[in-house]
Amino acid sequence: AKAAGRNTTRFYSAELQELLKRRREIQHEMRLALERGEYHLYYQPKVDAWTGRVIGCEALLRWIKPGGQVVPPLDFIPLSEETGFITLLGAWVLRRACFQIRAWQDTHPHLLPVSVNISAKQFADPGFLDTLQSCLEEAGVDARHLELELTESVLITRLEHCLELFSRLKEMGVAFSIDDFGTGFSSLNYLNILHLETIKIERSFLRRAMDSQRGASVLQAIIQLGQSLDIQMIAEGVESQQDVDKLLGWGCRLMQGYHFSRPLPPAALAEWLTTRHQ
Ligand code: C2E
Ligand code: CA
Ligand code: CA
Repeated sequence: AKAAGRNTTRFYSAELQELLKRRREIQHEMRLALERGEYHLYYQPKVDAWTGRVIGCEALLRWIKPGGQVVPPLDFIPLSEETGFITLLGAWVLRRACFQIRAWQDTHPHLLPVSVNISAKQFADPGFLDTLQSCLEEAGVDARHLELELTESVLITRLEHCLELFSRLKEMGVAFSIDDFGTGFSSLNYLNILHLETIKIERSFLRRAMDSQRGASVLQAIIQLGQSLDIQMIAEGVESQQDVDKLLGWGCRLMQGYHFSRPLPPAALAEWLTTRHQ
């Protein structure tokens, strides 16, 4: 039994070694990918389903390997947060999005504002605001065309630091929304402190609302809460006309999801917009 125990230990440590090695490889690959231009931003429209108008879009990061394999962000962003690489990658995302705004400012103003996801780690970085400012300046775009999507995890740590950053953002004219609303621990508590303009309702709430009466009550309550606090609500993960009808019935008209469009490369999204407005 003792020998078996030792073997098990050796087995696990070999497995762990392998895991650590794989992580180091991915980290190395992620950095190389930046140099090689393998990161791309796709954009998904946001729609006011009441009027049918496109009200902006969200930038979503894709890593496309030379063979064409698309690596979804959840496969590498968490690791890049752990290692701190997100600061560099996030700065690239911001710069890229700002230059896209520059291009769309004249040709496709419907696609503005463009919102960019900011990870908690990136937001906490002391250089964040300077990076943001210089991206806007370099691209020569108006701050009101850019929006930030911050998850609730941003708010968990150092609330005072957050409040300071929020007021600086406001001065700069950069709007932000709280992403994945309802999934954090303190969702209701911070509504007491912050005057939020926009909240994105995490898509699992919509799925549950379509599955059960209980889920529907929860989502309706969230929407009502937003209405009474005068906060814009946008529903994520809208996949069908049935989703649209329910949401409209409950008083939520801003939506995003595959029902309207999947995230697309910039040219394809501009094309989508053209056919839609004809
Ligand atoms: P998120 O911010 O909640 O983004 C929404 C996710 O839902 C996206 O996944 C989008 O493609 C997907 N989605 C959109 N419509 C639908 C729909 O109708 N049904 C379903 N099932 N899914 C839909 P994606 O692109 O894989 O991104 C996953 C997450 O990765 C994002 O979640 C965001 O947290 C993170 N992420 C993406 N890009 C960036 C980035 O540039 N920076 C940072 N820090 N995080 C990013
Ligand atoms: Ca988002
Ligand atoms: Ca989400």
